[in-house]
Amino acid sequence: MAPRPQPRLSAAAFDRAVKAFEGAVGKDWVLVSDADRDSYLDVYPLDQPRRHLPMGAVAPATAAEVQAVVRLANQHKIPLWPISRGKNYGYGGSAPMTTDAMVLDLSRMKRIIEVDPTLAYAALEPGVGFFDMFEHLQSNKIPLWISAPGNSWGSLIGNALEHGNAGTPYGDHATRLCGLEVVLPTGEMVRTGMGAMANSPSFHLARHGYGPTLDLMFTQSNYGVVTRAGMWLMPEPPSTLTMQIELPNQNDVIWLVDVLARLRLDGVIQQNPTIRNFLRVAAIQSQRSEWYQGDGPMPEEVGRAMREKLGLGWWNVALTLYGHEEANAVHAKVIEAAFRPHTDRSFTRSIWRKGDPLEKSGHQGIPSVRPLGAVNWRGGRGAHIGFSPVMPASGKHAYDWFLKAKALMEQHGFDYYGAFNVQERNITKVTLIYYDRDDEAMVARLKALFQAMMAEAAKLGYAEYRTHLDFMDGVMDTYDYNGHAFRKLSEKIKDALDPGGIIAPGKQGIWPKRYRA
Ligand code: ADP
Repeated sequence: MAPRPQPRLSAAAFDRAVKAFEGAVGKDWVLVSDADRDSYLDVYPLDQPRRHLPMGAVAPATAAEVQAVVRLANQHKIPLWPISRGKNYGYGGSAPMTTDAMVLDLSRMKRIIEVDPTLAYAALEPGVGFFDMFEHLQSNKIPLWISAPGNSWGSLIGNALEHGNAGTPYGDHATRLCGLEVVLPTGEMVRTGMGAMANSPSFHLARHGYGPTLDLMFTQSNYGVVTRAGMWLMPEPPSTLTMQIELPNQNDVIWLVDVLARLRLDGVIQQNPTIRNFLRVAAIQSQRSEWYQGDGPMPEEVGRAMREKLGLGWWNVALTLYGHEEANAVHAKVIEAAFRPHTDRSFTRSIWRKGDPLEKSGHQGIPSVRPLGAVNWRGGRGAHIGFSPVMPASGKHAYDWFLKAKALMEQHGFDYYGAFNVQERNITKVTLIYYDRDDEAMVARLKALFQAMMAEAAKLGYAEYRTHLDFMDGVMDTYDYNGHAFRKLSEKIKDALDPGGIIAPGKQGIWPKRYRA
């Protein structure tokens, strides 16, 4: 897809903008050397690495500085691409969509403003990382758990704003945001929910204030810069019970999705469980060349040997129950009874009790970057991209799409690697594709595969929930009801809030007026 034409500043106008930003945040925090600019590149690029090279970055330390920078950006007509920690790998990382933009780097804003152990929430600035928060809670012995995604080097706010998720009861992170402080594209500051009242003690406690609920409008959007957010945290439970099972057949996924979705809807399972294929587990522990040296997709017998050696099923599920030990035991029985008609395999169980050392598992909100090791699967300088369409939580939908995705991946020379994240009423089918970013032929196959999956999924009414910069327009195109009425509404809101077209042009396929043809 050709990049959009970008209104560019002259060198002299850019220098004036840089001087103005330096006046707002200090000379040290306007980063425009070549090395600085390169440090904000997309590290998993799908095209020329410099396709998303920013003009530089500006790193304010306070919300007031953010306001000043946004106002100056309007005056100097220079777009800003806000990031919290910029670890959105696979989706563009810290890189902006357009090369005329400055990255608005909020990683210096790292204050944990408050943590309330009784009402179980925190108020945070955007630069607070999952590791920072975990350490804060542990070292202060605050009995609250965070919900950290597989690769947890990002920030709580950045991840929640992008609709990130994890396998804990609080794992749908955007829904745990409550009460935002936002600098609008014109520089005014607003607070949402109860925060709209200057002295409300309930800023981060009530999902709805009065009038429209606007929190989620600032997620996956380019309508403002979030400078503070409330994040609900999970009270540490008295006990957890983790149950794992490995299932041998590809078509086990049909009943598995149906059974897990029912248990989730009934509240027996509190988290959104993930069904992982064996490769998803094996790629974290090993490299492809240890199993197979061929170029095309790995043959089935290699997969079988891998499953046997590593003790994996075709599909693998780990569930964790949270609460009182007696209640968990009852729920475990209900789960086993639901599985019994379909398989003679049994669950392994492990119990954790308050006071025990934590289990080093994402299910207990322990941050980790271990799963990122899977990028080494293909060798070379590894990278990954996900294709993750949303579909109903139904085994039939899951299996039919699995067969299609597997065939497409194999046709394009990739090993099938996938997972189903089962939510209450829908599933997100995560297809991860690992590649060597220096292998041009492989990257070309990857892009062809992505386009093919996007087109095939769209025929069935499935579209992605989140995507890489290079596919943001394409995915928005698939949301096509009534002549793309949703994009038109999004653009209308964009133009009203951001008349200068300053904040994150093109994010999620929403372009301000001055960039639209
Ligand atoms: P992480 O915290 O996981 O490193 P990023 O900082 O890479 O996440 O943010 C991911 C994306 O979310 C960014 O590219 C940007 O579009 C959006 N985003 C992140 N932080 C903010 C923020 N504070 N305000 C507005 N948008 C943000």
